[in-house]
Amino acid sequence: MRLKQITDRSYYIDFPSLVGVYRLNDSDCLLIDSGASKAFGKRAMKILAERGLKVHSIINTHFHGDHSGGNQAIQKASNCDIYASKLEKVFLENPILSPYGIYSAYPIAPLKNKFLMCEPSLVTEVIEGDTITIMDEEFKIINLAGHTLGQIGVITPDGVLFVGDAIISDKNIEKFPFLYIANLAYHLETLEKLRETNYPAVVLSHGGLIKDWRGAISLNEEQIKVIINIILGFVKEAKSREEICDEVIKKLDLPINTSQYFLISASVSAYLTYLCEENLISSIVAEHKVSFVSK
Ligand SMILES: [Zn+2]
Repeated sequence: MRLKQITDRSYYIDFPSLVGVYRLNDSDCLLIDSGASKAFGKRAMKILAERGLKVHSIINTHFHGDHSGGNQAIQKASNCDIYASKLEKVFLENPILSPYGIYSAYPIAPLKNKFLMCEPSLVTEVIEGDTITIMDEEFKIINLAGHTLGQIGVITPDGVLFVGDAIISDKNIEKFPFLYIANLAYHLETLEKLRETNYPAVVLSHGGLIKDWRGAISLNEEQIKVIINIILGFVKEAKSREEICDEVIKKLDLPINTSQYFLISASVSAYLTYLCEENLISSIVAEHKVSFVSK
């Protein structure tokens, strides 16, 4: 059975990119994210229908295709509302912006895949405050920016916190020791905030229910330090962004394909921004190129 019960009304569907479920009543439910593709969206609806549930609304934690790939199929079938933060809405409705963002121009064909560019869906409600009410049930929303600029976490009325990709599980860090980040300063604040939270249950999008989320946060922070140290060690002499990206991939022995390369490269840019803001490195222009060097 793929529908795992967490509390009285909170569940998740155990996909690789899991789908959170909150039972609003005997026939309606709310989803937190929608699965990695149209096929996962359809499978989610089938699993819910077997329990007599139809989708009333979706809250997306962030726009990434493995979290919103089921949006369009579910919205077409159920006419459900979709809730997202203001920034994520723009990406959910205009998926070309995702590969455009990491490539910095209209993307090459290998970047126009279903993970980086899923089908568009219509965000009917923009989340602006720290609560939303759906069918008289109040969901708390927390800002978890960093992994993306507008990522949010959702706390169900019975106290389950869904954190999207704000925390990566130990197992996944071991498999792929790199963290995708859009803004590292925001991300570190997010981890600090999550360390202080105290909810009965915390759910990671890749990994499920986690007991020791504070331990996982420490491991995430340690791995970020490893990446920072690789960069700081390498830019003792001026290096281009591309050289720095290649060094990170080599030192961490990261398996890459075209999508991975550009995702890592975009995240390395976020690390460089952070290190510039922290006054540890600076960007310089010399010999016809822009480089980064330690201060
Ligand atoms: Zn993500």
